[in-house]
Amino acid sequence: MARTDAMVLGAGIVGTSIALHLVRRGLHVALVDRRGPGEETSYGNAGVIGTTVYPASFPRDLGGLLRAALKRTTAANYHVGALPRVLPWLLAFRAASTPQRRAETARLMRPLMARTVAEHEALLAESGAMRYLRRDGFITLYRSDRAMADLSGELALAADLGVATRRHDPQSVRELEPHLAPVFRMGVHWPDVASVSNPLAVTRAYAARFAALGGLTLEADARSLHRATGRWRVDTTEGPVDAEQAVIALGPWAPDVLAPRGIRLPLAVKRGYHRHFARRGNATLVRPVIDTENGYALAPMEQGIRLTSGAEFAERDAPPTPMQMGRLAPIAGELFPLGEPVEPEPWMGSRPCFADSRPVIGRAPGQPGLWLAIGHGHLGLTLGPVTARLIAEMMTGSTPFCDPAPFAAERFLD
Ligand SMILES: Cc1cc2nc3c(=O)[nH]c(=O)nc-3n(C[C@H](O)[C@H](O)[C@H](O)COP(=O)(O)OP(=O)(O)OC[C@H]3O[C@@H](n4cnc5c(N)ncnc54)[C@H](O)[C@@H]3O)c2cc1C
Repeated sequence: MARTDAMVLGAGIVGTSIALHLVRRGLHVALVDRRGPGEETSYGNAGVIGTTVYPASFPRDLGGLLRAALKRTTAANYHVGALPRVLPWLLAFRAASTPQRRAETARLMRPLMARTVAEHEALLAESGAMRYLRRDGFITLYRSDRAMADLSGELALAADLGVATRRHDPQSVRELEPHLAPVFRMGVHWPDVASVSNPLAVTRAYAARFAALGGLTLEADARSLHRATGRWRVDTTEGPVDAEQAVIALGPWAPDVLAPRGIRLPLAVKRGYHRHFARRGNATLVRPVIDTENGYALAPMEQGIRLTSGAEFAERDAPPTPMQMGRLAPIAGELFPLGEPVEPEPWMGSRPCFADSRPVIGRAPGQPGLWLAIGHGHLGLTLGPVTARLIAEMMTGSTPFCDPAPFAAERFLD
């Protein structure tokens, strides 16, 4: 049986970054997954490191609500059968979507967000993976007054938080991205945001660096986690492994391990889809662009132009229903000359989300030596390495670089 100091359950971008941070601090670490590193949610994102300043929000106006309810918006979809279970979460999401709460969330997230690019850059550099990083920002596009409704408040908050933004008319957006058609009225360039051209390759590079530093990568079902002789143990394909400390970084699957231990956190999933398209002719896209009104991103990837969808509220394990993708492709095709799809079917993943748009990073309540790094929602790629720094500092008794209190699981416990 292998004895380690710490085991990390889940080898997505979050767990792999944590394992790497822990091994760099001299711990003997096992990284455990039932699949290869980065092959689940962390495979399929839009590759954006950073974001705008407001978190995702529930429609506040009646029109927006009706469009969502009647499935008239491409930005969101839902399965009727999942609504009763997801309703309490949706109500909490709605409560967190007032202008005041959104601004408060942006402020609470700022210490993490301010370091996201630097933390990735450090790991990319030591992993020999800088070739995937682009420092060109991303662009949010606005087609209508409705899409711009919240923009002045958001730009004012960005200025207050020291987040750089540049407003552009369609002509000057096209100086940055010459192949975008002027179907929008305005664009905002967020120059300090970064992106990667292959999220899977990035997680794999961090996993390879972890292994090169002596970390163990093991295959196991994390649901085998249990206490044995005062330590945490899982049963891997190579036998049992135990550790003083264990980290749950299972993304949308975290409840499968936490609920049997009596830890019931209000984690929901926003499912999302992507599909790659060839570029038509000599068309190029330098950086990710977001069509805010229609809720999709177009991101240049090694595999092609990746079209990613907005949120689908459904049971995590229900079969894919990629109708949003069918509606989005022609809308995205008006903006950028998309060619043929690369794959026969869209990919689907599940963003693990708390309604207050903050992850849980810290101790598992009532479980000595158990840690949580879950619920990174729309920002797991962005936040993986900075989450890793914060939790590794807490686990090794160093002073955390920021106050971890806003990310504690206790905020959900009465
Ligand atoms: C369409 C879409 C676009 C997105 N775009 C962006 C973006 O541009 N920028 C951004 O920052 N974020 C984006 N995200 C969000 C981001 O991808 C996620 O927040 C992030 O990948 C979550 O990472 P994770 O490590 O927590 O989870 P995961 O990557 O899902 O990792 C969890 C791991 O746990 C393993 N696991 C699960 N159950 C078990 C078990 N029983 N036993 C063993 N192992 C198990 C899985 O195999 C998996 O490897 C996007 C998401 C989607 C869906």
